[in-house]
Amino acid sequence: MSKLQIDPQLLVQNELLEKLRNLQAIPVHPITTKYWSLGGSGGWLGTSTTGILKCPDGVGSFQHYVNGSIYYHPSTGAHEVHGLIKSRWKSLGWERSFLGYPKTDETATPDGIGRFNHFQGGSIYWSPSTGAWEVHGAIRSKYSSLGWERSFLKYPLTNENTCPDGVGRYNHFQGGSIYWSPSTGAHEVHGAIRSHWASLGWERSALGYPTSDELVVFGGAARISHFQHGSIYWSSTAGVRVLKERVRVHVKILTMPTRFTINEQFAAMQEVYAVAGIRVDCATTETLNLPTLADVDVGGCTMGSVTPEQVTLFGNRNFVGSNDVVVYFVNSTVPGYNGCAAFPSGRPGCVVVRTASRWTLGHEFGHVLGLSHVNNNDRLMTGNGTFNITNPPPNLTSGESSTMRSSGLSTNL
Ligand SMILES: [Zn+2]
Repeated sequence: MSKLQIDPQLLVQNELLEKLRNLQAIPVHPITTKYWSLGGSGGWLGTSTTGILKCPDGVGSFQHYVNGSIYYHPSTGAHEVHGLIKSRWKSLGWERSFLGYPKTDETATPDGIGRFNHFQGGSIYWSPSTGAWEVHGAIRSKYSSLGWERSFLKYPLTNENTCPDGVGRYNHFQGGSIYWSPSTGAHEVHGAIRSHWASLGWERSALGYPTSDELVVFGGAARISHFQHGSIYWSSTAGVRVLKERVRVHVKILTMPTRFTINEQFAAMQEVYAVAGIRVDCATTETLNLPTLADVDVGGCTMGSVTPEQVTLFGNRNFVGSNDVVVYFVNSTVPGYNGCAAFPSGRPGCVVVRTASRWTLGHEFGHVLGLSHVNNNDRLMTGNGTFNITNPPPNLTSGESSTMRSSGLSTNL
């Protein structure tokens, strides 16, 4: 027997190997690969209840199992859906719905509480206390930009629904709502502002749809949401206020205030003006290099009577519309006041000095909008100096509020 003679058993093994190679050349379906990766029939999906079937679109395919399904599309790959998220997807029409095919398996949310699947056309979010609901489109983008379930909104409580007015769309969430309309886009509304908007009738109220998220007011503690036809303001002291009027203010800085920042003075002004239903918009801020007017001669500071220096100063109205008002922050007035609201005809505005009180800006604008002094230190318009105000924020009477709203310098929103 030659040492080189080939063992017949070895030949048989080679034929078997060749057959195995041919078997491996038959591609395993991506659904089967996914199924195996999840443990196959011994995994949580359990045994299959269907074969691998084509979806009605003729492109994708799926297989159902005892405890879930795997869906495959060439552009998304193979992903599992199961439980209440699968039930929600099914109720919307599977892959033929706007959601399309799954882009992820069911995944734990970063907050460690809930679960989600992303789909081609949106997402379904589930948590134990809220169930499974879809979010999609511009509302989903807003939800994402706020931080998904880790934001104050937490988990969705509804699918995206059509608003009762038939125009817009909304999702409610545990911590608020997102409203969308074609002309306003998607914005969140929450907390006391949302409750008040709801009490007025949501988008069918006179305010219409939100045009902003909830915003911080001049860097302070108050909050505001803007709507198509007004704003809702909230602070712990003023409560909830609907603002249907606004004054547009332009800031001109000759000397930066040192006792209270410009933002602090505006926040204080808005806090008082909210009671009158007036929104304070700071339209522009400009620095003026006018050193000779930084200590401005205001004479007796009487309404309707101005000095040449006031005429020159109030001539600086760059960017300012005719109904807009200007505040000039100066070093001091001569003689010395906190501020002065005497202005040349047709150039409404006031000056506020560097060391003014928190309430001086609102007080001087009160004069510009037609208010006179009162002898009462509980009120914004006290003639005894706003440093002596005893009950911050100071009061505006309803008569004063209506005078301000009808001044011609306040515009309906
Ligand atoms: Zn005054």
